[in-house]
Amino acid sequence: MSSFWNSKINEIEPYTAGEQPKDGQKVIKLNTNENPYPPSPRCKEALLDFDMSTLRLYPNTDSKAVCEAVAKVDNVKPENVFVGNGSDEVLALCWQTFFEKKENTGKSVLIPDISYSFYPVYSDFYDVRAEKVAIKEDLTIDPDDFTGRENCGIAIANPNAPTSICMPIESIRKILDNNKESVVIIDEAYAAFAEGYTSAATLIGEYRNLVVVRTMSKSYGLAGLRLGYAIADEELIEGLKRARDSFNSYPADRLAQTLAAAALSDREYFEKTRKAVMDTRKRVMQELRDMGFTMPESGANFIFAKPPVSITAETLYKNLKAKGILVRYFNKPLIRESLRITIGTDEEMDELVKAVREEIRNVQES
Ligand SMILES: *Cc1c(COP(=O)(O)O)cnc(C)c1O
Repeated sequence: MSSFWNSKINEIEPYTAGEQPKDGQKVIKLNTNENPYPPSPRCKEALLDFDMSTLRLYPNTDSKAVCEAVAKVDNVKPENVFVGNGSDEVLALCWQTFFEKKENTGKSVLIPDISYSFYPVYSDFYDVRAEKVAIKEDLTIDPDDFTGRENCGIAIANPNAPTSICMPIESIRKILDNNKESVVIIDEAYAAFAEGYTSAATLIGEYRNLVVVRTMSKSYGLAGLRLGYAIADEELIEGLKRARDSFNSYPADRLAQTLAAAALSDREYFEKTRKAVMDTRKRVMQELRDMGFTMPESGANFIFAKPPVSITAETLYKNLKAKGILVRYFNKPLIRESLRITIGTDEEMDELVKAVREEIRNVQES
């Protein structure tokens, strides 16, 4: 608290990101869903070819090269793409652009009660009323719970975090069909890792009220670059640009635009690394299940695993941390019994499985 801060900053409870180890500290980091593989080699080539003298000049405000690369991948027009400094910024701009402040409306934005924990923070920060819609006991989202409820917007992560569960596109369609008056955000941060999933981006053109948000942080191995984007109808994109140009007209710098476009152009590498993560995920899920863990099928680059009764998630989290393995534990109802474990390299996951096996053996012997 400080008397120099305004009342909002004094009151807000900011988002807490997963802990970052200090530089030089050797840990196996499976707590913030980063990609274990480096970005496409085309990024390095693009960096070596980069003309430093261009950094004199402001970048293209719309990140045109990135919009064009996304348009190619997703079969939309570049005018349907909006680029920001990470998808967190894109999401924040969506809140400011599409959701009404509570002083102007009695309606709320609907968000799942278990979801990306930035959504309630944005709602608080931008004075938007949020209504948390309960997910099912099996941690799935029922699209019927997002129909017939008055709202001024909807935001859902699909696949959801931290549950890892992916809703099929038919469910998204149902939510869109029943909420034509408000903007529906589908946050596809992890969609690249969902087997057989058809992206909601295929519905752009059919629904004027749909915003699909994506990030280069997870599936492209570029969390350090800070680049995310939205795909939507041009009318919605125009709105986002109005908000951006009232805040920071140049969210993505020249280097970020160049490297992101290079990464997006390399489909072969994208496919290879996403498959590698999915293969490792399959194997690790089996090994943990063999030890008595339960978990839903994952559509993400992490799993949400509940340990066998002999050990609590909290104890396992602490003991793994003591061994230098970081995973994510949420001390919240409904999810405090499981751990969110990012899929790392095969070697990292071997270390994890070995450490978990030791912990379980220890409790059984004591
Ligand atoms: C990681 C994550 C983001 C943020 O991605 P950045 O582009 O790194 O800001 C957004 N939404 C969800 C659900 C995420 O897990």
